[in-house]
Amino acid sequence: MKSRILRILAVILLITASCENNSEEIQNEIQQIEVQNGLELVTGNFDQFPELKDLYKNLIIKKRNASELNNKKYYFEIDSSNIVKSSFEGDVFFTIPIIGEINQTSFENLVLTLKKNGLKEAYIINYEPDNDYLKRVSTNPFAYFTGSTGSTNLNSLSSKSCYFITYTVCTWSGHPSNSGIPVGSGCEHVETVKIEVCSGEPTVTINGSGLYSPSSVGEGQTNILQGTDVITNPIYLKVINPHIYVLNELKIPFKSSEANWLKRSENFEFLLDILSFIEVNNTIEALDFVKYSISVKMAVPNSIVDFNKLFIETPTPDTKYIYQGAKTYISNPLTLRNGDKIKITFDQTKSDGKSSNQQVAIDLIEGIKYAVEAANKNLSGSDKILGLHIFCTTNGTHSATSNHGNGTAVDISRINGKKMIVTGVTNQIKELQKAMDNYQYVRENFGPFLKHKYSKESNSWNYNYPVKGHKDHIHFSIRK
Ligand SMILES: [Zn+2]
Repeated sequence: MKSRILRILAVILLITASCENNSEEIQNEIQQIEVQNGLELVTGNFDQFPELKDLYKNLIIKKRNASELNNKKYYFEIDSSNIVKSSFEGDVFFTIPIIGEINQTSFENLVLTLKKNGLKEAYIINYEPDNDYLKRVSTNPFAYFTGSTGSTNLNSLSSKSCYFITYTVCTWSGHPSNSGIPVGSGCEHVETVKIEVCSGEPTVTINGSGLYSPSSVGEGQTNILQGTDVITNPIYLKVINPHIYVLNELKIPFKSSEANWLKRSENFEFLLDILSFIEVNNTIEALDFVKYSISVKMAVPNSIVDFNKLFIETPTPDTKYIYQGAKTYISNPLTLRNGDKIKITFDQTKSDGKSSNQQVAIDLIEGIKYAVEAANKNLSGSDKILGLHIFCTTNGTHSATSNHGNGTAVDISRINGKKMIVTGVTNQIKELQKAMDNYQYVRENFGPFLKHKYSKESNSWNYNYPVKGHKDHIHFSIRK
């Protein structure tokens, strides 16, 4: 308990130190933090709080009707079914969600205060959540907020440059993982942390001890206002299904089957990955990859999509095979039998962070050499394959019976530095895959051009092997 308070103090002191406050103000804040655990939270609807009706009438309705205040800021719609009353030492604060635009992930709360000294004030606090918050709130409506925030005091005509928002967080056991549980329902310990917001919107982040601290604090922090403290826990109005809002935010015309799949809670993290990707890569290429990755994930949910590298780890199960021959590393350059040298580059898989530069079956390396040499015989000078990018050998997540595990499979994702997902089917891909079919120990040959599998056991080919994905790479495996 003691150490937790000290941690909070450290956070507050850090904030205030940069504000150049005098020591008296710092002292005041410390005392306030120490006594704020007497906070009571009650949830209910508008009619369950008789004092709220008066407050709302005086602070909002009357202002709307006052002719001298021709100001749109008093016009908004509230969700009267979802209200949190916070009481602390005789001061009362009501937090009410404001019904906003349907296609936004940002949201606003109206906070009405009724202080024991008679002061009544209304604030609109707006929140711009980050993806982590959206993830948390999708499973817990009381999840702690991270993102950026700003506020308007509806009672003040002059624009104020600084104010305080006080967040309550559940710090049960002091673990951040527990701090998201609903405050007031099963939470064993509530802490309140005060954040100063001045001229601009500092980003609010959660630190290692599970408490809030602004990661950046705005300029001009000496002008601290008195008596404007607000106690509020953000209420995310769209908690019913944040998936829909993120989906709308993406502004991608999905098919209804895709949209329905993306709305499933188990796919929410994937949906947020798409959002993060599209936010920085809003190109046709990127959209194509998003659509492709959805089709692969829908067919094979345990595929792992690496949006940064436009690569999908697609499971390719086979019958269990133990390779008895020798293994070695794929050399760079890789020297073909005709003496030509091929540049080899390696990568690392998202799922395990491991490099693809691992030992593989010598017969697999011989197969790559054979296929490149044969392909180059059919390619014109400028089209010849000079380099291969190896994304997977034994690295990555593969099914237990996949040939990757035993070092007899390779995933090639780029030819001459160009990603297959970007180039589409080229002559190089066609010739390389055709040549792979002719390698004496070929097993699987799955890629953008064809999906062939040879069964040594039955000496037969399947020329339409039903494996998903592989538009972004050639999976080539051998069996001796
Ligand atoms: Zn593979």
